[in-house]
Amino acid sequence: MIAENLRVVRSKIENACSQSERKPEDVTLIAVSKTKPVKMLKEAYDQGCRHFGENKVQELIDKYDVLPDDIKWHMIGHLQRNKVKYIVDKVYMIHSVDSLRLAEEISREALKKNVTVSILIEVNVAGEDTKFGVSPLETEELVRKIAVLPGIAIKGLMTIAPYVDDPEDNRQYFAALKQLSVDISKKNIDNVNMNVLSMGMTGDYAVAIEEGAVFVRVGTGIFGERQYAL
Ligand SMILES: *Cc1c(COP(=O)(O)O)cnc(C)c1O
Repeated sequence: MIAENLRVVRSKIENACSQSERKPEDVTLIAVSKTKPVKMLKEAYDQGCRHFGENKVQELIDKYDVLPDDIKWHMIGHLQRNKVKYIVDKVYMIHSVDSLRLAEEISREALKKNVTVSILIEVNVAGEDTKFGVSPLETEELVRKIAVLPGIAIKGLMTIAPYVDDPEDNRQYFAALKQLSVDISKKNIDNVNMNVLSMGMTGDYAVAIEEGAVFVRVGTGIFGERQYAL
């Protein structure tokens, strides 16, 4: 099932790329494997997936410990400061940085472990009350404050778009995140790169790619529906 799902997802990615005259190699698929057993991740790995996304620290570590070393782990969920120390030297990128306090903790732990942690700033583009993320208007200021911290490299922006029936409804938010990244990159802030845009999930990744996504985070489309314990 996973092999077939991946074929479908990859061909949709290729279609979205040709729609928007982008190169497929400029878009990276993150297999969002939260709640899914190691066996399924192994299956995706065998089908060529090397980027995996998790939203819980413990689960990420458990899977990191038993899966191959060449996997690039992405922390995509809300991150508590007291858990930063467990993952700074294990993750390829943290997508969910939305406060200076969290960034300061990442910086501290990165220095202790002598690593540089790549991060994205999570932006709540649609302004939903229920979502984490900094508002678009506050993003540049936060970027400037984080940019001076040692042990951290800002690579771009991330957003979680609203849950919608018609993915076209989210196009405006993806376009807005892209524009925000262009605006900030024009400011030429030291130690800040805005090349990465992490946006698009199972329901809307094609539209996100058309609007410039560099990472798409697809869970259900690869692994099937998630079952959460009651
Ligand atoms: C769960 C999750 C995804 C994947 O969602 P699907 O709809 O299953 O593709 C993507 N991004 C984040 C931040 C998530 O928490």
